[in-house]
Amino acid sequence: ICVKNLNKRYRARDGDVPALADVNIDVAEGEFVTIVGPSGCGKSTLLYILGGFIGADAGTIEVNGKSVTGPGVDRGVVFQEYALFPWLTVTQNIRYGLEMNGTSRQRCEETVARLVRTIGLQGFEHRFPRELSGGMKQRVAIARTLAYDPKILLLDEPFGALDALTREGMQDELLRLWQATRKTVVMVTHDVNEAVYLSERVLVMSQRPGRIVQEFQVAIDRTGERDVTVLNDDFNQLRNEVWLAVRKQAAARSM
Ligand code: ADP
Repeated sequence: ICVKNLNKRYRARDGDVPALADVNIDVAEGEFVTIVGPSGCGKSTLLYILGGFIGADAGTIEVNGKSVTGPGVDRGVVFQEYALFPWLTVTQNIRYGLEMNGTSRQRCEETVARLVRTIGLQGFEHRFPRELSGGMKQRVAIARTLAYDPKILLLDEPFGALDALTREGMQDELLRLWQATRKTVVMVTHDVNEAVYLSERVLVMSQRPGRIVQEFQVAIDRTGERDVTVLNDDFNQLRNEVWLAVRKQAAARSM
């Protein structure tokens, strides 16, 4: 993913809102990058533009050398609000993306069964979203996105609505999934702990209009269990540095 000189303003009745100013980002294939920053700094806006849901005012976005002009199956998006179809069951929700791209019936069934196992929802296949917990719904949303096997995952605060313990469990699942598939991941979060725990690189955005002001490489050992990682001094030192960087941006007066 190659983003150059991206600018975005929202036009509102009571004046324009500058959301992004001169954003430049390169994400390598297979890399896991998180974007952190103060609330309202333009993180979601950046992700929507990468997803092709809204356009930028200036600048270019290329994925694999091709200009992004709209949504595409190469980029799977997961939002905080699970965005499941309430009238479809777990399997029907997961199957939806597959049917859209013309996968054969047998292949659909195999893929859906595999994904239901991956997200640990065997026995819940025929439940509707309203019959599931928040964590289960988000797992279905992720499985639905994985079903059509996008090369890139764009995640917007995907665990934001979950309680702390469920959130940790989901982070670990995402980490395992990324280690197994090496998909390219761009994730927006306001949780510095989550960013350092999951990603290889953390980008810090300024107050609105958002710019990338700082970048941290995360070279920590993630081969052990969560407890081993989070008790590690390198992890804690880096987390504190990123936290201070975000605090500094949050405290800076917006222009
Ligand atoms: P973040 O994800 O970092 O919290 P957003 O990208 O959601 O930030 O929003 C950036 C800024 O743009 C905010 O100040 C928000 O109020 C404003 N904004 C977002 N969407 C719109 C819109 N459709 N119209 C006008 N202003 C918007």
